[in-house]
Amino acid sequence: MDTPSPKALQSFLDELNATMCDRTEWGKVADYIPELADVPVKQFAISVALPDGRVLSAGQNKTPFSIQSVSKVFTLACVLGRIGDQLWNRVGREPSGTSFDSIVLLEREAGRPRNPFINAGALVTTDALLEGRIPRDTLTELLEFLRAAAEDDDIHIDKSVAQSEKLTGHRNVALAHYLASFGNLKNSADLTLGTYFHQCAIAMTTDQLARAGRIFARFPNAPMQLSPQQARRINALMMTCGHYDGSGDFAFRVGLPGKSGVGGGILIIAPGKASIAVWSPGLNNYGNSQVGTEAANHVARFTGWSVFEG
Ligand code: GLN
Repeated sequence: MDTPSPKALQSFLDELNATMCDRTEWGKVADYIPELADVPVKQFAISVALPDGRVLSAGQNKTPFSIQSVSKVFTLACVLGRIGDQLWNRVGREPSGTSFDSIVLLEREAGRPRNPFINAGALVTTDALLEGRIPRDTLTELLEFLRAAAEDDDIHIDKSVAQSEKLTGHRNVALAHYLASFGNLKNSADLTLGTYFHQCAIAMTTDQLARAGRIFARFPNAPMQLSPQQARRINALMMTCGHYDGSGDFAFRVGLPGKSGVGGGILIIAPGKASIAVWSPGLNNYGNSQVGTEAANHVARFTGWSVFEG
């Protein structure tokens, strides 16, 4: 289906924002990271970056939120750019069918996480990005990557969120040490965890996130380009694993690759057509934004964008 005119798309986004804001059921904010538990739940934003450089938005598109696991897709892009296919010796490419912080498959599969988006796989990916460098340089590389992709230098790490997660991230600590026991961490568990908590604590607005996502949508005019193969592969992983044990349902309802985070953000890619960021901090049972998922469903229905279109 053709992209709707910018005017039609803008009025759709305005209506969508009004509909979403009228809701009574917003989901539940992530409370295992105390700093996120304080975020008011009734918030919504959506931004759509188009190939011509325009970004159309509605709602609170200038409010920074904690991108959390959405960061994993950018870390993955950095790591693949650096060490390429070697990463796959340490991490798989299969959906896990388990929650983002599950440890259950790790023992059975000898410390090789199913994919780079569950926490265990993301810890290995961050560990690979860290190799041979100090955490500050690694985090600077990731921030510079995001700023260049979004063409916006005003993207930062919220240190209080990182600290808050560090104090309560018992599951991630367990996962990191378990990975280390199988020899699948090259750095100390503390170093990898500290870097991971800071990467998750990056704050962005939906405008910034939609612009950064253009690298996966492969717009010819995007300020940075991934190789076609890399973009295709990362999109395939987002489609199959980007929403954890909710990935099948997201693919069924939305039909586009997406990566969610417990801060309530979702990056959604319509290859060649749009990079979409939605945010609403209340989560569903899978740890994905409740209202954001619904909004994504509305966008897919209005635009007809789907990787399964004929
Ligand atoms: N920082 C969070 C954690 O590791 C990220 C999880 C998520 O966004 N799904 O628990």
